[in-house]
Amino acid sequence: MSARFVLSLDVEGLWGLFFVRSYVERPDAALAGRAALPRLAREIAERGVRATFAFVGHLLLDRCGPWDGLAHPELPRPAYPWYDRDWYDDDPGGDESSAPLWYARSQVAACRAHGHEIGAHGFAHAILDTTCVPREVAVAEFAQAQRAAADADLPPLRSFVFPQNVVGHEDALAAAGFTCYRDADLGRPARAGPPGGMGRAARLAAHAVAAAPWVGTPRVRDDGVVVVPSSFPLLGREGVRRLVPRAARAARIEKGLERAAREDAVLHVWSHPHAFADEAAFDDLREALDRVAAWCARGDARALTMGALAEEARRGA
Ligand SMILES: [Zn+2]
Ligand SMILES: [Zn+2]
Repeated sequence: MSARFVLSLDVEGLWGLFFVRSYVERPDAALAGRAALPRLAREIAERGVRATFAFVGHLLLDRCGPWDGLAHPELPRPAYPWYDRDWYDDDPGGDESSAPLWYARSQVAACRAHGHEIGAHGFAHAILDTTCVPREVAVAEFAQAQRAAADADLPPLRSFVFPQNVVGHEDALAAAGFTCYRDADLGRPARAGPPGGMGRAARLAAHAVAAAPWVGTPRVRDDGVVVVPSSFPLLGREGVRRLVPRAARAARIEKGLERAAREDAVLHVWSHPHAFADEAAFDDLREALDRVAAWCARGDARALTMGALAEEARRGA
């Protein structure tokens, strides 16, 4: 049996960060993500891996606005107990040249040129927490992401990555044309809200000791949408994350591939472009992907995009 390996990247500009205001006041992370993305696309492809780059749909727009009052007034907005502004308050109503952290259509070309899959990460990165977000918001997020992709001359998007890995209203994906989504890590529901907090220290420790990661198998739902299992995030080197040594990071990938091969399962790792803010982070990635490439060269693993994995699962179902 061979292991299956999937790598997905959440591309979000400031859309995935604005609800923590310090990221807007000092947009270093979003700037780093934008700078890293073309190189990321190239270096991943050079190791024979095709990844799924899940873009926030708004990034695919050529432009929007200018807005006189609320931005995108026709769209339903999510509201959360932890956020007191309108979800589109920061929308600059411009284009990629005036506001490159809110529009990034040109970056799609870099990904496609290397054969990567383009997926969706919402339209405005609404976190689809069903305790407070109604279905109409999810329906709009799914449909507007597809509309933005079509407007950017992309084929219909197949793969969806839920903002903050909070899976909600997933039964509305099929009608919007999606064939799969990334499940929360370990198949355990993720907590909705601003980043941080519980569980982080425990997760970091698992990286540091290179604990054998969880691997899963795709599941085809009754509506044909494939639930793509997810293992763990590839860490950047921000803050305490830099304490996780490169050898431990690579060993974790290796253990994941071993386990996936043994269990006929999928090792699926994911990250954000802004995690690759320096050379050390790129070195980590190269080391990890070299391991994957070696497995693939021996015929012991196959690297697949989310969409391709889902297609196989649907054919086999
Ligand atoms: Zn807009
Ligand atoms: Zn995100």
